[in-house]
Amino acid sequence: MPTIGVLALQGDVREHAHALEAAGATAVAVRRPGELETVDALVIPGGESTTMWKLAHTFEMLEPLRLRVKNGMPAYGSCAGMIMLADRIEDGIAGQQTLGGIDMTVRRNAFGRQVDSFEEDLTFAGRAIRAVFIRAPWVESVGPDVEVLASTGDRIVAVRQGPLLATSFHPELTGDTRVHEYFVNLVREL
Ligand code: GLN
Repeated sequence: MPTIGVLALQGDVREHAHALEAAGATAVAVRRPGELETVDALVIPGGESTTMWKLAHTFEMLEPLRLRVKNGMPAYGSCAGMIMLADRIEDGIAGQQTLGGIDMTVRRNAFGRQVDSFEEDLTFAGRAIRAVFIRAPWVESVGPDVEVLASTGDRIVAVRQGPLLATSFHPELTGDTRVHEYFVNLVREL
């Protein structure tokens, strides 16, 4: 059973941990570089990417996270976590940095403000799922090595590049563990 960390600086950590356990992984909270070393893979939760970035800097986690992603650790980012895994962002705050890893441009808060949160039925990698969007980003553009796993209208909302997975939406809030199962399988296969 793979051990998958959930980055626990900020955001909906507990919901991801529950979904990972339901999908057949052992979930642990990761706040420190030493904890990051112990996991096979990492989930970066939804929350607020600007806060997460600042806390990652304060906790001296930015470089260790970048290094592990660069060295091929599987990672899954939902919403704010998608922003963290993007090589390029639009509408970030001044100086906002990401970890990067996925060759894509993500637009922060693209679907509107908090009041514009919505739910929608989507096809994710061939599976029908219900997606919850909360002040969500969308993917403006992707590089040639990025596989699009889900879209709503002409907006890309889920992608994969090798061991890295990202969704604009929050599967951890629905009780449907299929996106987490997809990630756990990806971790097992690598
Ligand atoms: N808008 C948030 C951000 O910029 C993301 C919202 C979310 O994770 N639900 O990080």
